[in-house]
Amino acid sequence: MDDRPRGPPLFTFGVIADIQYADIDDGYNYTRTRRRYYRSSLQLLRNAQKSWSEAAVKPEFILQLGDIIDGFNKSHGASDRALDAVLTEFGSGRVEVHHVWGNHEFYNFSRSALLSSRLNSTLHSERRLSGVPAGSETYAYHFSPVPGFTFVVLDAYDVSLLGRDASSQQYSAAMSVVREHNHNQDLNCPPVSGGLLQRFTMFNGAFGKEQLDWLGSVLSWADDKRERVTIVSHLPVHPSSTDVICLAWNFDELLALIRSHRSVVCFMAGHDHDGGYHQDQDTGVHHVTLPGVIETPPNSDAFGTVSVYEDRMLLEGSGRITGRVLLFQPTPGDAEPAAI
Ligand code: ZN
Repeated sequence: MDDRPRGPPLFTFGVIADIQYADIDDGYNYTRTRRRYYRSSLQLLRNAQKSWSEAAVKPEFILQLGDIIDGFNKSHGASDRALDAVLTEFGSGRVEVHHVWGNHEFYNFSRSALLSSRLNSTLHSERRLSGVPAGSETYAYHFSPVPGFTFVVLDAYDVSLLGRDASSQQYSAAMSVVREHNHNQDLNCPPVSGGLLQRFTMFNGAFGKEQLDWLGSVLSWADDKRERVTIVSHLPVHPSSTDVICLAWNFDELLALIRSHRSVVCFMAGHDHDGGYHQDQDTGVHHVTLPGVIETPPNSDAFGTVSVYEDRMLLEGSGRITGRVLLFQPTPGDAEPAAI
């Protein structure tokens, strides 16, 4: 197959994950095995913005895959200041940014504060955005930058011990799920040292039933319209696309939903700072987990630019991001190549 696309892309977009900016000296991750470059993460975002602003085809939008500032900001009373610094950097590009929420958003801010903040992209977009019905305070919506292509932003901390009020139904559901598997005093400590059960910690979360029902209806509509759907979430959902400790608690429900619809072409996530990739053999869906800025040294980079064509997306990676050709599966009814 000829992997070279012909002509210019239909549109492009930028992706970046786990910036985790804080104005503090370098540190280490929870297990003290990986260095974290809290201060220089802002410079890496600046590098990304520069590249996107100079691109031959300017991005239509940027996907910020969550954990935009680090939880340490909270203990330094610097959450608002750090968020200002990062959003000022994003603002310099004058390109619409779609913000996904991760665990570090909730270390810094309550869910209600986030809903009225600049990190709620539904309040600041000029596009027509359609979200989960109001009432649940779930942050999930979809948008279409170009006819035929839909992006769905999911809320992976819908059912969570983070950001939800302790009296809420979502918090008690989260506590039952975690407690069923994790008997540690510190719920950030995984219950086991290997395998899928490692994911039951409080730095992960789940998609609630109302959100799954909503996603199902969006995907049914997309199937009918023959849309190409890319889903984005802070937490990955395919065990082969990430260290399994980073998976959403109910990743299996999400995978089942994706497999029951033909419109999904790609699932993008962050959270696992090493990143990962897997193409689901059953569906052809590409599961891309983007390496995080926070664990990228100042002399490297961690952002991607995706060019979208009728039959594929080309992920051009900078620094630690691996470039990939993400071919779409032909949908039933697509024109077959003429027989020779
Ligand atoms: Zn995270």
